[in-house]
Amino acid sequence: MSEWDSLVNSILNCKRCRLSQYRRNPVPGEGNVNAGVMFIGEAPGEKEDETGRPFVGAAGKLLIELIESTGFKRGDVYITNIVKCRPPGNRDPEDDEIEACLPYLLKQIELIKPRLIVALGRHAARTLFRLGGLKWVNMSMMHGRPYNAVINGLQVVIIPTFHPAAALYNPGLKDELRRDFEEVIKKHMSQAIKASTGVKARGKTILDFLNDSSRR
Ligand code: URA
Ligand code: SF4
Repeated sequence: MSEWDSLVNSILNCKRCRLSQYRRNPVPGEGNVNAGVMFIGEAPGEKEDETGRPFVGAAGKLLIELIESTGFKRGDVYITNIVKCRPPGNRDPEDDEIEACLPYLLKQIELIKPRLIVALGRHAARTLFRLGGLKWVNMSMMHGRPYNAVINGLQVVIIPTFHPAAALYNPGLKDELRRDFEEVIKKHMSQAIKASTGVKARGKTILDFLNDSSRR
C-alpha cells in the first residue's frame, strides 16, 4: 500500500478524538498532490460529513469560485482541513481535537511538500503559524500577506485569509477575501504551481488580451 493510501486509511478508521463518535464520514482531503499548493480550512461541515469530501457545501462553492478567479481549477490544488471529522453542530474544533488530528496534516504536508499553503480562517491560520514557528496576531491585521515559514524542515509560504463561510454572511469580508485572492494569492499560486508542475494558469493574461486586440 502507498503512503497516501495508508494515510487515508488511518484517517477513515481514526478514533483518536471524540469527533469520531459524531461523524458520518471523515474527510481526509482531495486534489492534486503534485501541484505544490494546499488550501487548509477548519473542519468538515454537514455536506462534507455526508459526502466525505472537503468544501462541497455553500462555503465550498465560494472557495471554488475564488480558486477559479485565479485561472486554476479546484482539482489543481490540494484541499483539506485542520481536523478531518465534523464537530457536532459545526461548533469550533477544540484544542485537544486539533492536537489529536495534527499528525495527519503533518503527514499530508510531508508528502505533498507544498510551496504555498493558503490558511482559510483563524483556526487554520493560528495552527499553521504555530507549526511554522511564527507568531499569530489576528486575521484583520495579518490576512492577505505571504509569510515565510518552516514546517517540519520544509520551507513554505503561508498566506492567511478569511474563511469563506464567514464571508458568505458578511459582504465586507467577502470583498476583502476577493481582494486577497486577486492581489496576493493568485500570484503566489501561479508561481507555486508553475515551479511544481511547469503549468501556467489557464485564464487569459493581460498579454493575451493585448495580442487578441492587436490582431483585430
Ligand atoms: N468549512 C471548512 O472549514 N471546511 C470544509 O471542508 C467545509 C466548510
Ligand atoms: Fe481522528 Fe482527526 Fe477524526 Fe479526531 S478529527 S477522530 S483525530 S481523524
